[in-house]
Amino acid sequence: MNTQLKLGKKVDQEYFQDELSNRRERLEQSLKGQSDPSQLIQLLQQVDAALDRLDKGVFGLCQTCHDPIEEERLLIDPLVCFCLDHLTESQQRDLEQDLYLASRIQGALLPPKESKFGKWDIYYSYLPAGPVSGDYCDLIKLPEDKGQFLFVLGDVSGKGISASMLMTHLHAIFRSLISLQLDLAELMDRVNRLFCESTLSASYTTLICGRALPNGTIEIANAGHWPSLLVGKNRMEWIESTGIPMGLFCDAKYGVNRIQLHPGDNLLLYTDGLTEASNKTIEYGGSRLQSIASSLEFKTPKKLVDHCLGDLRKFLNGSTQADDLTIMSIQWLGSTA
Ligand SMILES: [Zn+2]
Repeated sequence: MNTQLKLGKKVDQEYFQDELSNRRERLEQSLKGQSDPSQLIQLLQQVDAALDRLDKGVFGLCQTCHDPIEEERLLIDPLVCFCLDHLTESQQRDLEQDLYLASRIQGALLPPKESKFGKWDIYYSYLPAGPVSGDYCDLIKLPEDKGQFLFVLGDVSGKGISASMLMTHLHAIFRSLISLQLDLAELMDRVNRLFCESTLSASYTTLICGRALPNGTIEIANAGHWPSLLVGKNRMEWIESTGIPMGLFCDAKYGVNRIQLHPGDNLLLYTDGLTEASNKTIEYGGSRLQSIASSLEFKTPKKLVDHCLGDLRKFLNGSTQADDLTIMSIQWLGSTA
């Protein structure tokens, strides 16, 4: 997701003032009774220097080129003083190593690209804009019944490492709640609460979570995400949002839609890397997606996803993919399969 400030949660000087003052307080408390406080004192000096930069109005500016430092890096570490272009050689090496590790961790969390649960076929494509992605994509087999599974597709605020860390955090939250066998609405409420209570106040995520049942029914909840698209032989239907993005309010509640799929129907989920992709003139948008999805004759999940990606490439016409992109298609083969 492109911007941290979309929902009016401002990450401004005041935010960093609070954040740094809090850290200063905690450091001072830790200093009491420390036998070797040299490291903490050094940190305290760095926090004071950052507070001083805030006072002088130069906080968040690179000390080499004086351009703004990447906001996501500041959010993770308000003590950084240099933009990515002006890190020292050893800082750059560390960063490359971090990125490499993060991308491996993230890759290991993804489900297989093609899956089958009973009479359900699923295929997805996961395309980070950089080494790591802020998209969350998961398929979870449910313990209680054969052929039932959960699918999740989400998009975390921000980009790069900070977003990818939130993505792995979401993954852990979902995975740890599965054993409780909650119904979908309650699962959404709990995920939101845990996400809210354990992340920076400026972080949020939009996501879709659904449960597919062996009889072709899908229960689906949508936390402020782009609507999913039901692609059937003679029908095309948007399944809209049932709640606000997660991470904004701990007490948010989520509604659930129930949809009966017909044999051969696909449910298409995607992140804004598709619909908000821009070719410098216009955005790709939902109506183009709808018409391209309906134009395909024989729709297996893989064909449908590849067909959409092919059209996106055509639309971009050489422009690069600016945002993380995930597309997933879930098909019910029905009783005749
Ligand atoms: Zn710089």
